Amino acid sequence: MERDILMKLDGVSKTYDMGEVKVEALKTSSIDIYAGELIVILGPSGSGKSTLLNIMGGMDLPSSGKIIFGGEDLSQAGESELTRYRRNQVGFVFQFYNLIPDLTARENVELAANLVKKPLSIEGILQEVGLGERMDHFPSQMSGGEQQRVSIARAAVKNPRLLLCDEPTGALDYQTGVLILALLRRINQEKGCTVVLITHNTAIGEMGDRVVRMSSGEVASITENDSPLPPERIEW
Ligand code: ADP
Ligand code: MG
Repeated sequence: MERDILMKLDGVSKTYDMGEVKVEALKTSSIDIYAGELIVILGPSGSGKSTLLNIMGGMDLPSSGKIIFGGEDLSQAGESELTRYRRNQVGFVFQFYNLIPDLTARENVELAANLVKKPLSIEGILQEVGLGERMDHFPSQMSGGEQQRVSIARAAVKNPRLLLCDEPTGALDYQTGVLILALLRRINQEKGCTVVLITHNTAIGEMGDRVVRMSSGEVASITENDSPLPPERIEW
């Protein structure tokens, strides 16, 4: 079956030059990201997952190779094009939420909504993530799972083509983690937004449409799940 490619990583690598030593964080890697898929990038700590995600998100440039998004080669893009790309096309979800502590849930989401021309409804998305009653609460008044919901609402309100999630359940207990994963799958299905989900947790691979396994900065394998598990059925 022919699938539409949202993003093409073609021979991408990243070496950090630390003076005396060079760290080859990502060896030459090629991955096509299909439009609408939920793809899990799996690997142990230090295997290059975040390096890969930062390059996909236009937060870092590769040392070699191309990243094509919508016909544009981001590896050749200037700072203003990269800023526009990050702002309009990408939503980010991080392990430690990265919310602004002195803004309420609503205000955190509003800040992101103001960056784009056609945001989704701020209150609507907060309701969708189950925080209808908590909109005026500050991050410090919320549990980790609730803060992660705010951060997902903040990413999703921009209605981005690509949602990049770096260890989104890494700081959460099992049950809360499952709810967060279910929410990411729901946003993927309902908004048609392509989701890239990074984890060191092998079990989470079972929910992906595809799984990229990273090992020592290399793509060790890319496999397809014929029947991805609903997050509620994953156990770890
Ligand atoms: P993962 O997310 O899988 O844990 P990372 O992509 O963060 O892995 O890191 C891959 C390797 O690159 C590690 O050896 C890490 O120490 C190194 N690395 C990551 N970022 C930097 C950086 N900014 N400067 C130097 N080395 C880095
Ligand atoms: Mg990482």
